[in-house]
Amino acid sequence: MLVAQDLERLYGEFAAVKGVSLELRPGRIVGLVGNNGAGKTTTIKMLIGLLDPTRGKVEIEGVSTRQPKTRRKLGYLPEESPLYDDMNALDYLAFFGTLYDVPRKEGVRRGEILLTRLGLAKDAWRKAIGTLSKGMRRKIAIARCLLHEPPVLVLDEPTSGLDPGTAHELDAFLRELRSEGKAILLSAHNLGQVEELCDEILVMHRGKLVARGTLQDLRSTFGTVQYRVKATLPFPGSQPDAAIHAATVARLADVEAALSHVKREGGIVLEVESLFPSLEDIMRRVSSEEHG
Ligand code: ATP
Repeated sequence: MLVAQDLERLYGEFAAVKGVSLELRPGRIVGLVGNNGAGKTTTIKMLIGLLDPTRGKVEIEGVSTRQPKTRRKLGYLPEESPLYDDMNALDYLAFFGTLYDVPRKEGVRRGEILLTRLGLAKDAWRKAIGTLSKGMRRKIAIARCLLHEPPVLVLDEPTSGLDPGTAHELDAFLRELRSEGKAILLSAHNLGQVEELCDEILVMHRGKLVARGTLQDLRSTFGTVQYRVKATLPFPGSQPDAAIHAATVARLADVEAALSHVKREGGIVLEVESLFPSLEDIMRRVSSEEHG
């Protein structure tokens, strides 16, 4: 659907993005993660045709996203999306639709459907946008980027700054969009959200994609499994934890040593749990390897 090849962007001598290639396909959510300054926004701007790459290209079905016609296939949600505070949601959406040649009446119809799906209470549809809460405004911004029915969505921090309930609702909506076949790029600092939602994760560091794959792929490449052993009596390396004794160990041999110690002393091993690294652990590791 959307293919980006070997994107590079220089600002003077400084390369903000170096050799990024990626693909967005229908029915998949790709997560783009990285620390501040990693190059995510610069990459996104090139993907949506807002910024010319110094090298490389971005195409949707073989046509550059620099072409206005192709941009109609894209829905873009910026991190900060200014809305027209004096307008009401439906007028605003209908107005936005007309910029994409969606007739006004059809814009209102689509707006009503989207706002309903997004769970925006009906009595808010005709209120001035400026009087609505942050979560409501975010829903209107999301409706706006879907109004012209684009097959590709680029979403920059769709739920940042929202309360957990609203964020959860929007995550459920993103899952629905995926199952309807949208090709989605999700840039987010909330790594838990990326772990939950994304079919593929791209880790960006200093302008490069330094890791990519499913969470499981990243775990097997960059993560190390640890083990948490819990027992009724102390064993080497354990700490008291409420009424029991527990230790986190890195090697299976340490697990075995703990098991035999506890058994020898007449105690009981209550649990051996595998601890998988989180995306956060993986990112920390990727960044420190790059520094080293
Ligand atoms: P954040 O998570 O903080 O938004 P980011 O991953 O989106 O960060 P970018 O905004 O793409 O990162 O910036 C990547 C690098 O390019 C940074 O070092 C930034 O200072 C630099 N940069 C971005 N835009 C410009 C510009 N217009 N001129 C010069 N340097 C820029």
